[in-house]
Parts: sequence; structure tokens; C-alpha cells
Amino acid sequence: MLAGIDPHQVHEWYLAVYADAYEWVEAPNVIGMSQFADGGFLGSKPYAASGNYINKMSDHCAGCRYDVKQKTGSQACPFNPLYWDFLIRNEDKLRGNPRLGQIYRTWDRMDDQKKAAYRETAQAVLDMI
Ligand code: SF4
Repeated sequence: MLAGIDPHQVHEWYLAVYADAYEWVEAPNVIGMSQFADGGFLGSKPYAASGNYINKMSDHCAGCRYDVKQKTGSQACPFNPLYWDFLIRNEDKLRGNPRLGQIYRTWDRMDDQKKAAYRETAQAVLDMI
């Protein structure tokens, strides 16, 4: 979702690679919950996170080659710039969501240089993908 991959292709991928991916279970979980591509029918906001949340909820970051605390630049955790880039790429659909109001206010308070650094780092990550 953060990378902007076509949700239908993600859905088809799950059906293709998992022998036990029954569509009546898989479709709501993938299209609805993981991709927020059902118009908000199942979830009240996208299940998206920056590296900080992933670090809090898991032990993945300790051994990672990226730095979860870095927000931009080549060593930054890719989830940090992708998170903001996702929100800005989809601003027309998401800014009005009451659960994301505080997040967009945080973005609005950032200076232009910081915003540009997030967008540039995100683009570098997307180019790598
Ligand atoms: S990419 Fe690395 S630093 Fe970022 S959330 Fe994943 S494990 Fe943590």
C-alpha cells in the first residue's frame, strides 16, 4: 500500500501463492484491511505505519541495515519516507478522514525543506523497488 502497488495485483498475488488462500477470506483481508482499497468499508483508516510503529510492535529493527530513527537519506528506514509520501500522494482521498487529521496537521507544520527530503527519499526507495 505504501509503495502504491495496484491492490488488485496484490490480491491476485495472494491467491496465486497461497494454497489455502480462499477468496472469501483473502479478499476482505487483502483488498480491505491491508490495502484500504474498498473505500473504507472494513477499516476506518489505512493500516499504514512508519518505522517507529513497526519498531514498537516488533523486534525486527534491531538487526536491520536501515536506521529506524533516521527519517530521510540513504540510511533511513524506508517506511519513514514512504509513510509520508503515501499520505501526500493520496491526500485528496485521506485528508478529510477524522482519524488522520492530526497526522496531516503534523505534515502541515513541517518546513518545505523537510517535506522535500521526505518526498525525495521516498522516490529513491520507490525507484529501488
Ligand atoms: S526496514 Fe528495518 S528499520 Fe525499517 S521498520 Fe523494517 S526492520 Fe525496522
